[in-house]
Amino acid sequence: MPRSLLVKNAHMLVTMDEQRREICDGGMYIEDNRIVQAGPTSELPQTADEVLDMRGHLVIPGLVNTHHHMYQSLTRAIPAAQNAELFGWLTNLYKIWAHLTPDMIDISTKTAMAELLLSGCTTSSDHLYIYPNGSRLDDSIAAAREIGMRFHAARGSMSVGRRDGGLPPDSVVEKEDAILKDSQRLIETYHDEGRYAMLRVVVAPCSPFSVSRELMRDAALLAREYGVSLHTHLAENVNDVAYSREKFGMTPAEYAEDLGWVGHDVWHAHCVQLDKAGIELFARTGTGVAHCPCSNMRLASGIAPIHAMRDAGVPVGIGVDGSASNDGAQMVAEVRQALLLQRVGFGPDAMTAREALEIATLGGAKVLNRDDIGALAPGMAADFVSFDLSQTAFAGALHDPVAALVFCAPSQVSTSVIDGKIVVKDGRLTTVDLGAVVERHNRLARGLVEASGL
Ligand SMILES: [Zn+2]
Repeated sequence: MPRSLLVKNAHMLVTMDEQRREICDGGMYIEDNRIVQAGPTSELPQTADEVLDMRGHLVIPGLVNTHHHMYQSLTRAIPAAQNAELFGWLTNLYKIWAHLTPDMIDISTKTAMAELLLSGCTTSSDHLYIYPNGSRLDDSIAAAREIGMRFHAARGSMSVGRRDGGLPPDSVVEKEDAILKDSQRLIETYHDEGRYAMLRVVVAPCSPFSVSRELMRDAALLAREYGVSLHTHLAENVNDVAYSREKFGMTPAEYAEDLGWVGHDVWHAHCVQLDKAGIELFARTGTGVAHCPCSNMRLASGIAPIHAMRDAGVPVGIGVDGSASNDGAQMVAEVRQALLLQRVGFGPDAMTAREALEIATLGGAKVLNRDDIGALAPGMAADFVSFDLSQTAFAGALHDPVAALVFCAPSQVSTSVIDGKIVVKDGRLTTVDLGAVVERHNRLARGLVEASGL
């Protein structure tokens, strides 16, 4: 017998289904990890093994975070990296990150995921590209399992150090054959290609300025052999574009195309400086973009042309990016920032609140190459979150609670259900002792910065 869960009486249920239904007094009937029915409470079965009464709550599909570096939660607001652009910021931080340990990967993943979960995110990708002192992607994967988040673990890498004209110090780069071998091991050990997968592995060299052409090309071949996705950073700012032109004689988009890095199984972070030809290429090939507005503002990278990308048909999702270039991993805040920043760049109708929410749900799902998350409809994964509409932040905005979630001050969830399991209840994580996690995180963060001598 499947275990059943009834969600009832939601003030408003935002489905993101094909009709984009927003249902007053809505709910869902769930069996195990998937939605059987979504609609008005009165049309649903009246009992279940477990019942969640969502009276006074807004219920939405779980948000999808498409770009992050969770280990960076250990190095927020580092004085030497507070006021630099991308390359200078990285150069200062590499020295600290060289002292990361497996324990630090574990704790920072938990802290980052806790912050994401409490802010409405149920599926996250993480791009870990530095593996000093025995650190492994397995450390992140174990942490994700413990906390209960749906996870796309991206095996990042850096292979071109300063000696070879790259940006990272030689001490933190890996050999390319070792990178490919470990990526293959991770795919074979962990990757679940099935529907409702809680864990997928992604092949993800860090960026064109930290790996070789050969690794980019071989990574794409490996990913295609196993049917896993590809992810990297691209066209992040003007210096990134200049590096590409000087080193490869191509724009970042041309470079990506040349190496097989386009397609529905590829997504690139940032793309702030993606040109018109690049936008057309991405639209034509279904190549996705992770839009990270806070990070782009923090590093003064610019305003990504999300409005133009979406008009052209490019799949776009939201990413909080690493916590050293955002210093926060609050998903609702990131959605709000996406809306505000597009308007700064392209006018008041450049993005609506509902469009911002759609990008953060359906958009993120598409970018991660999934069709089983991002909407609340029969056959979809049971991933949803609720917000208590009696919070001060929403006072005076209840005539449109959906828009309120994006326009008003960023809120935390009261409930989060992932894969049919309750991960946040009454605003508290059910899977880990968050106080203890944060205490250990702070202790290890202090040790990390001290070890670097900065
Ligand atoms: Zn990034």
